[in-house]
Amino acid sequence: MWPADKRAAVAFTFDFDAEEVWIGMDEANATRPGVLSQGAYGAKVGLPLVLELLARHELTATFFVPGRVAERYPERVAEILAAGHEIGLHGYTHRGPGRLAGVTEEVSELDRSLAVLRALGANPVGFRSPSWDFGEQTLALLAERGIVYSSNMMDDIRPYVHQPSGIVELPVQWILDDAPHFMFDNASWEKTIRSPREVGEIWEAELRGIHALGGLGVLTTHPQFIGRPGRLPLLERTIELVLALEGVWVATAGEIARHVRARAEAGPAPTAQAEAEPAPTAQAEAEPAPGKSAGAEP
Ligand SMILES: [Zn+2]
Repeated sequence: MWPADKRAAVAFTFDFDAEEVWIGMDEANATRPGVLSQGAYGAKVGLPLVLELLARHELTATFFVPGRVAERYPERVAEILAAGHEIGLHGYTHRGPGRLAGVTEEVSELDRSLAVLRALGANPVGFRSPSWDFGEQTLALLAERGIVYSSNMMDDIRPYVHQPSGIVELPVQWILDDAPHFMFDNASWEKTIRSPREVGEIWEAELRGIHALGGLGVLTTHPQFIGRPGRLPLLERTIELVLALEGVWVATAGEIARHVRARAEAGPAPTAQAEAEPAPTAQAEAEPAPGKSAGAEP
């Protein structure tokens, strides 16, 4: 599954949603500057602080950016690229397929977001749907456009390859997201704000668990939430925790997806036992090298 000296992988990903997450929830928010300022914080303050933190740890990450956010903040896109990070697709507006008027609008969202990001010098190979919402035809649309990976599904702890599209999936989960823990619902006031310590415990347990099982941890955070002064130390502690894990491969989502695709194209890897023993026992032939490739191959 992983490069030879690695036993698990972690990707740090950031969804740079800015105002679009609130507009995506309710078009009427587009005329509410107070509501939108929660997202503007991500562009004005949160993102520069996140970039500074990543630079300090010499870490490259993946930023999923809606097309409209890139149009509004082209200088921020330039800063992300200049720092060597990856940029992926995250809709044009921040609306998933379930909120769009069918395939025609989904195609238009995809193509507009691709055009905007390419014009700003990015070459997106990955797609994260707004709110991880997905349509039945989404994978085929991505494959038609040469997209390499999706980071949307919650059905595994290891990457896999969707068939027949050949799109690599880098699975996610709300557990390793900051929004469910930190996004305040100012419409209902029903969702409380959790403490960084509590969220740190949730993330640490999940990341350690995934590492122990040889999987992929995809941390999904948002500059408007994780970029608050009280939460940046949580991101830093999480980076330090991950970097200290034994044999962990920390890479961008794109690097991990390309590795997975190359392995899938190379075909099933020879088992460790077959490599070590020219004349395998009957038992070894019957059982595919436990723990080495189980469950990970497409
Ligand atoms: Zn988003």
